[in-house]
Amino acid sequence: MANRFKAPILNVNYFLCGQGCARNEAADGNAGGRREGAEVCNTFRFYLKEKNTMITPDKVQQAAELKEEENYRFRTFLKGHADEKKLDKQFLELHNELFSDYDCSKCRNCCKLYKGSIPAEDIENDARHLGISEEQFIDSFLEKDEYGLEYQTKHKPCDFLNGDGECKLGECRPENCKNYPYTNQPERLHSLLGFLDIISICPVAYEIFERLKKEYGFRAKKDY
Ligand code: SF4
Ligand code: SF4
Repeated sequence: MANRFKAPILNVNYFLCGQGCARNEAADGNAGGRREGAEVCNTFRFYLKEKNTMITPDKVQQAAELKEEENYRFRTFLKGHADEKKLDKQFLELHNELFSDYDCSKCRNCCKLYKGSIPAEDIENDARHLGISEEQFIDSFLEKDEYGLEYQTKHKPCDFLNGDGECKLGECRPENCKNYPYTNQPERLHSLLGFLDIISICPVAYEIFERLKKEYGFRAKKDY
């Protein structure tokens, strides 16, 4: 089962675009649900082309699917042309600018679309934070991942996500959760493949990649 560090980009489900497209409704008779492999309507392409605000959390998966080929080409472009230190600086500046007024509690895609990955060394503190024993913590919330090595939450959305968008583990939440989407971390040039996965989950990461395309004068061949 995918977690935030192993999520594939190529098989994500589409969200309906929410533009009220009659063609989508007619296609599957389920205007309010999710469906897989749905053809992307022209209304959504127009929305992407014309929008001058950040993509919303409910649309980011579909938008990343549409731009998948373009994003792979831009990743190849960066590998061949970008200076490592300059790219880290650009990522960091965009990260600071965009997260400075972004309310992650209104998104939480990173907690909804992955299972939480809980390091074994965190379990003692996490259990104490919740006022239960380590055994209760493991029994109630955790299972081993597909390789039988690491602990992950039993469910997706993550079991520790509260209805108000906050994490039940508070400051005890894993470092990887605190650092997601890693756009302020060094060596971005060597992490671009993984970043293409993140773009399909995180609206801020998606916007950072779009801004970088502009900064590098990268032009998409296709007209989105
Ligand atoms: S880090 Fe990204 S995916 Fe997670 S809540 Fe914030 S904007 Fe959403
Ligand atoms: S542990 Fe908390 S921050 Fe991490 S995925 Fe789960 S709800 Fe989100």
